[in-house]
Amino acid sequence: MYLVFDIGGTKMRIAVSSDGRQITQSKIIPTPKDFDQAIQTFKKVADEISGGKKIEVIAGGLAGPLDKDKTMLITSPHLGGWIEKPFKAELEKLFGCPVYLENDANLAALGEATYGAGVNHKIVAYLTISTGVGGGRVVNKKIDENSLGFEPGHQIIVPDGSPCNCGGKGHLESYVSGSGLERTYGKKAEEIKDSKIWDEVERYLAIGLNNVTVLWSPDIIILGGSVMQSINIESVRTYLKEILTIFPRAPKIELAKLGDSVGLYGALSLI
Ligand SMILES: [Zn+2]
Repeated sequence: MYLVFDIGGTKMRIAVSSDGRQITQSKIIPTPKDFDQAIQTFKKVADEISGGKKIEVIAGGLAGPLDKDKTMLITSPHLGGWIEKPFKAELEKLFGCPVYLENDANLAALGEATYGAGVNHKIVAYLTISTGVGGGRVVNKKIDENSLGFEPGHQIIVPDGSPCNCGGKGHLESYVSGSGLERTYGKKAEEIKDSKIWDEVERYLAIGLNNVTVLWSPDIIILGGSVMQSINIESVRTYLKEILTIFPRAPKIELAKLGDSVGLYGALSLI
């Protein structure tokens, strides 16, 4: 029995798989802000969905950058109470099995590359356009090696532009994410109906994808996250074709397929 999870700022998803390929059972609960309470809740839910069966391996994602050995969160705008708390060690102690942690956007990238829109592609770039913008690069169904992590949402697309959640200015996240749009227009993404605004978002996103293409050289760029429901992907493809002049063709641009379970599939793939 394998245990997988995806822990975000508001919700945590915990699931089990009996064969390591499909999710057998899962549960979604609010993420406790307090770390000790979170550990207790995690154990309770895990026992419930595993039916008390022995867990052999645990893997999952956390919303934020991890330390070099991937044992804990080192910063996180949404999980303040979890920063520098030994999550991996606590789970190993509680369950007595190996535990693998990853950044949630990297796991989502791996999930789409292995089970979703990227199954037939070797070099996969994934971007999630949600409250913020995250993403990662997957090569041959493995998260590509990296020194500091992948942060495609924090590339600068407008010098000295709009402020970003990270403290920077002019980042892609400021122009296309839910929080960036809310700051600029005073409305949630799903409430913005002005097609001029969306046209501008699609152009900024295409600039971001141009940069992803020239630096990451992917076969396919997969776009996920809630804001993609309001973005016209065909318009993004058209703008990218105009902007990207150095290569004879652009990579494929496709929507993510796995929805909210993407992190759980990434965790299965990691195992
Ligand atoms: Zn930023």
